Amino acid sequence: MKTNHVEENQQKLHSSMLKLYEKYLEVIDKYIETCFETQKPFIHCGAGCCNCCETGEYPFSRLEMEYLMSGFPDLTFEEQQTIKTNIKILLAEKGQSTGRFLHKCPFLLNCRCVMYKRRGITCRVYGLASFETVKGKQVIKLPECSKYGLNYSEVVENGTVSLEKFQSCGVEAPIRHSLSLNYFEREILRGVTELEFGEIRPLLEWFR
Ligand code: SF4
Ligand code: SF4
Repeated sequence: MKTNHVEENQQKLHSSMLKLYEKYLEVIDKYIETCFETQKPFIHCGAGCCNCCETGEYPFSRLEMEYLMSGFPDLTFEEQQTIKTNIKILLAEKGQSTGRFLHKCPFLLNCRCVMYKRRGITCRVYGLASFETVKGKQVIKLPECSKYGLNYSEVVENGTVSLEKFQSCGVEAPIRHSLSLNYFEREILRGVTELEFGEIRPLLEWFR
């Protein structure tokens, strides 16, 4: 009886954390939308483009993972089975590989994210350039697809970012935003601070 009571309390805590996380998403989704808007001249994301979900590790915190998987029961039986098979195959392949294992996301079915509403932060910000300080130096990180004629390809010259080209498109450069979780928490989430994201692991690692 006591155990049931403890479990009940844990479940309540868990679901209130997920609700709080949904509020957090509302705030950062608005912020991310503004970032995409300001970067419009460089953004080529569109329906049917899924290259960014084809190769990666997809870091997810424990909370993001719980939120993602809370939507799993809403998928069709076939989708669930396909995802389970994808994960099984990927884990076997990962077991054979040495070093970093980059792979297609198991939730990408027919070039469509079946968990779109519950996708992670990394998925939400992907496609934007980010502006970070590395060893005291400010660097602009571009999405991988900039190499393939997609986002920000206009500002890449000999493998580096051309600030002149950035400016010639009328877009402020360097971009004054960072896309890390820490930044969101520190700068734009005052008031939604009780969230505990937990450990961050590559997506596949959560299925071991
Ligand atoms: S981020 Fe790049 S690869 Fe992903 S949808 Fe946008 S243009 Fe396509
Ligand atoms: S969860 Fe969705 S958006 Fe994120 S990497 Fe997987 S398929 Fe892409």
